[in-house]
Amino acid sequence: MIDKVDFIKEDKIFSLLEKGKATDKNEIKEILAKARDCRGIDLGEVAKLLYLEDEELLDELYDVARHIKNRIYGKRVVLFAPLYTSNECANNCLYCGFRHDNKELHRRTLSLEEIVKEAKAIEKQGHKRLLLICGEDAKKTNVKHFTEAMEAIYKATDIRRINIEAAPMTIEEYKELKKAGIGTYVIFQETYHRETYRIMHPVGKKANYDWRITAIDRAFEGGIDDVGVGALFGLYDYRFEVLGLLMHCMHFEKKFGVGPHTISVPRLRPALGASLKEIPYKVSDKDFKKIVAIFRIAVPYTGIILSTRERAEFRDELLSIGVSQISAGSKTNPGGYQEDDDHADQFEISDNRSLPKMMETICQKGYIPSFCTACYRRCRTGENFMEYAKAGDIHEFCQPNAILTFKENLMDYADESLRKMGEEIILKALEEIEDDKMRTLTIARLEEIEKGKRDIYF
Ligand code: SAM
Ligand code: SF4
Repeated sequence: MIDKVDFIKEDKIFSLLEKGKATDKNEIKEILAKARDCRGIDLGEVAKLLYLEDEELLDELYDVARHIKNRIYGKRVVLFAPLYTSNECANNCLYCGFRHDNKELHRRTLSLEEIVKEAKAIEKQGHKRLLLICGEDAKKTNVKHFTEAMEAIYKATDIRRINIEAAPMTIEEYKELKKAGIGTYVIFQETYHRETYRIMHPVGKKANYDWRITAIDRAFEGGIDDVGVGALFGLYDYRFEVLGLLMHCMHFEKKFGVGPHTISVPRLRPALGASLKEIPYKVSDKDFKKIVAIFRIAVPYTGIILSTRERAEFRDELLSIGVSQISAGSKTNPGGYQEDDDHADQFEISDNRSLPKMMETICQKGYIPSFCTACYRRCRTGENFMEYAKAGDIHEFCQPNAILTFKENLMDYADESLRKMGEEIILKALEEIEDDKMRTLTIARLEEIEKGKRDIYF
């Protein structure tokens, strides 16, 4: 049995939201001015921003978010792809196509061989970072499933970082994931609102709110200090979810001295065979953009991940105000990189652009596509990462590493037109490296890559 957690204080969230409603223009301006220093803002201030409707002030909010994103993350956008290893699931989350009672779904758990095939197909697109993901099935997708998959992929491909998004585990199991070389452990609470959680997750292990919300604590105790959190927007009031998620982060930051490496912002999508036919708390594009900007300024040192659940043009727009990692060329059915099966997907994808197409758009927007996996391999994770990040040093590594990994990709995978566009972006990006020594070193490493050397990073 697991104790009922007390760190998501619903009464406090409702009271902060009540107070947040009555905020005047000057107060908002003061909060935004404070936020510009990249030191974050508190929950009361977040609550006030969550009620912003005034277009002029919203533009100011986006401007601050843009400023923080550029100052801390520079121009890089990190790319990754999900690898669905199974769509079998014992739970019955009302919103998900994988739910147990969905009779329309073609069920499949990939063998190790098939997983490696998928990883190779993802690598062939040009990716170096992937996210293993699946339903929850104690027999088929247990910890062994993940450790064996990681081992096989690291051995058979040049995938350099494997993140995992999986159902809650025990401390011992997290230790095994750590040993096998997990990058980030990701888990979404879905909704921080207990009663909504209870309705949405009627049966199975996932029905236990407390077991799920304490997964991150156990991951830390198992030695994983690089974690990602998220809420599924659309299940309950988005304002509540933003505050709930930040309270969750504050809890483990206080307990373990480290906040999350990433926050994901999935928005509910239609899914074949889901029992939820309508989105209970629809989040408009305007509100969604506000959510991203608020996260960017509330926790400036936490990456924000946006998936292909969002439309192409909207994803492009959100890049500038805070998103630092995006998936591209994604499939959400097991085996999807070999063959499509629209009766095996978790949900409908909105952005179907290929990785090269996505890279082209990133370049056109003046950003650098990054395939960097250096931090975790240089042990710049957890507390270490935060120290670098807060001192502003992470930016110094990220830009050169983005340049180097982009160059590799251009040489190994890109066609003529992307290569030409990319080389121009690299020249501009080199100029932006402030430290002369670092710039010279980066240029020298680019020459090594030209000569055939690979996987060099700072
Ligand atoms: N099965 C594991 C779990 O639930 O923790 C692993 C993650 S599940 C495959 C991936 C995530 O997809 C869920 O945590 C949920 O937030 C999201 N998801 C499920 N159904 C969705 C839908 N219809 N639209 C958008 N996201 C959805
Ligand atoms: Fe299963 Fe996860 Fe889908 Fe829930 S969200 S039905 S646990 S795959």
